Formats: sequence, C-alpha cells, structure tokens
Amino acid sequence: MNRNENGAVLSVKDVTLAYGGRTVVENVSFELMKGEILCLVGANGSGKSTLIKGILGLMPAAKGKIELHCGRDKLAYLAQLNTTDRDFPATVKEIVLSGTQTPGWRLPFYTRENRERAAEAMKLLRIEEFADRRIGNLSGGQQQRVLLARAIARRPEVLVLDEPCSALDPAITGELYGLFDSLRDSLGLSILISTHDWDYVSRSGDRVLELHQEPEFLGETGEWLKRKGGAR
Ligand code: ADP
Repeated sequence: MNRNENGAVLSVKDVTLAYGGRTVVENVSFELMKGEILCLVGANGSGKSTLIKGILGLMPAAKGKIELHCGRDKLAYLAQLNTTDRDFPATVKEIVLSGTQTPGWRLPFYTRENRERAAEAMKLLRIEEFADRRIGNLSGGQQQRVLLARAIARRPEVLVLDEPCSALDPAITGELYGLFDSLRDSLGLSILISTHDWDYVSRSGDRVLELHQEPEFLGETGEWLKRKGGAR
C-alpha cells in the first residue's frame, strides 16, 4: 500500500527537530496527499530545510513521527543547483542513469529497464538533445532539468524540492516550475516544495504550510493568500 486510508503518501506527526540541544522545528504535523502540491514557505531560518532533512531521513526527529507510506525508494529529492553538481565530470545520460539505481545498491552495470527509465525521464524533461554533453557545459536551467530527470528516473511517487529555482535566472524559473506541475499531472506525483516564490505558490500550490519554527499556517492556498492580503 502506497498511501494510508486518507490518501496521504506522507504523514508528519508532532515533529520536533533539533541541532544538539537547539530546537529549530517544533510540533509540526501535516499530511501530503496523493497528487497534491504542498508549498512550504517561511522566512530564511524558519526551519524549512531542516524539516526536509527530517523527511528525507537525514536527521532523526527529537519528538514525533515521520511516516512515508510509499517506501523510501519512492521518494525523490531535488535541491537548489550548486557548483558541485555543475563540476561533476559526467555526461547528461550518465547522470540520469545513476538516478535509476536504488541507493546503497551498486550494480556494476545498468539493466535494460534502467536504460528505459532514464530515456523516459530524459524525454519527459526534454533533455534528449543534450544526452552526450557534459553537465557543466549546460546552462543553469538545463542543468536543473538534468538533475530533475535523475530524480524522477527511479519513478518516484513523492518529489521533495528544496528551493529548486533559487539559484537560477528568473527568466527560466517559469519553465522549471511548469515542469513540476506537468510531472504532477502526468505521473500523479505528490510534491512538497519549499519556495519563496509567491507567484508559484498562488498559481500551483494546492495547500500551504508556513513555518516559523512552529507551523504558522496549514491550509488551502486561497485562504493563505487572503490572510497575506493577496488574491489568487
Ligand atoms: P530555512 O530552510 O527555512 O532557511 P533552516 O532549516 O536551514 O531554515 O535553518 C533553521 C535554523 O537551523 C536556523 O537557525 C539555522 O541557523 C539552523 N541550522 C541549519 N542547519 C544547521 C546545522 N547543520 N547545524 C546547526 N544549526 C543549523
């Protein structure tokens, strides 16, 4: 079973996360529903990335419980573009293929199914024409499309995005945001995305979780915008 009886793919219950003794996320509860886009918002330092680390299993919860109903190998993650990715000495095809392997499992070769999944992801992200190029020779927007293809090559059910457009030229962020929406529509992905981009939140977010260490708001995007004085 990939979701619980309410249709949730992820359940976060009364979660508190701390570095050493310092609590930075407190009493957070929410469920990510199948096929929804849930936007995680809040000022810098409000705990968004830490909550995401907890969800990815990179950090134990000091209190509470995080349950992934679909299984950990069905969770994919994409962060902001950084120079390590840019300098990685591999071709686009190799990078996308690497996403088809289950973490911790290092096969000496790729199976036909791995190759089919990588080809399918490259097609969805429209990067087939770059297949044999080094990732470092591409523009930032193209690089992020490659890393998104790697993330979805394992056919995940949940996609977690941590400020995925923040290092990019605003002129190309629209295209990337559009791809997240079409992946949700075509693959039925559930998306948790942390972002400062209110235009994206108002356009595509089904619901919003606003953090300020503790949750400040959890509900429909229209309701959140009303409280913020904006209009959908
Ligand atoms: P956001 O993603 O909303 O900007 P973060 O989760 O990165 O917020 O940070 C929340 C708080 O946790 C901040 O006060 C930050 O300084 C602190 N913090 C983040 N990472 C670490 C770390 N590795 N060790 C100690 N404190 C950290």
